[in-house]
Amino acid sequence: MQNVNKSYKMGSGSLHVLKDISLTVEQGEYLAILGPSGSGKSTLMNIIGCMDVLDEGTYNLDGVEIEKAKEKELTNIRNQKIGFIFQKYHLIPTYNVLQNIVMPLLMRGMTLKDARDASMDTIAMLGLAERIDHKPNELSGGQQQRVAIARALVGQPAILLADEPTGALDRNSGKEVLKLFQRLSDMGNTIVMITHDLSVAEHAKRVVRIVDGELCEN
Ligand code: ATP
Ligand code: MG
Repeated sequence: MQNVNKSYKMGSGSLHVLKDISLTVEQGEYLAILGPSGSGKSTLMNIIGCMDVLDEGTYNLDGVEIEKAKEKELTNIRNQKIGFIFQKYHLIPTYNVLQNIVMPLLMRGMTLKDARDASMDTIAMLGLAERIDHKPNELSGGQQQRVAIARALVGQPAILLADEPTGALDRNSGKEVLKLFQRLSDMGNTIVMITHDLSVAEHAKRVVRIVDGELCEN
């Protein structure tokens, strides 16, 4: 992205949250974006993930000029190219593990059988094979996050985008998730992780800081 600006309308005025952000993430890179609360991390993540639109600037994602895309195209781009991992997992509580994981594939029009077959390797890699019939509330936090990671991975997205992926986890489960990210990075996945925690950010191969809406490389 080049010279990206984003403001939120606030009553009669507006709040300038992202200030001239330029950032390049190479394919296969593992990047952490580190910044304090309120610095604009989630706002930036929403734009990287095509959940929100920029006001000014350009954003090229995997060859697509996102700033020119229409709302409806953005939904498709998001489904095809982004795997999201959130602090609070965001699993569907009434769906079991398997149903949660295959959802992105069903949204792309795959049949349930094909989606299930296509997700088996990911489910095995994340150690969830024995849990596929469980509902989220029958899992530990660490297990729920592994389900969310499997769901993010299953469609082989261009970017895995994680907002405070260890924020809700205890130390050990958090470590497990970071080990997993390392493994996914070694396998060639592109990972962008957003965090306020330096000890978490340091697991990434490159760290950039965001302070008051401005980005600086270390
Ligand atoms: P945290 O670490 O607490 O999650 P953050 O770095 O993710 O913080 P953002 O959520 O991006 O920060 O918020 C940046 C600024 O934009 C904050 O001042 C926040 O109040 C404001 N903001 C965020 N979302 C909106 C919105 N939808 N409308 C108006 N202001 C918003
Ligand atoms: Mg945030």
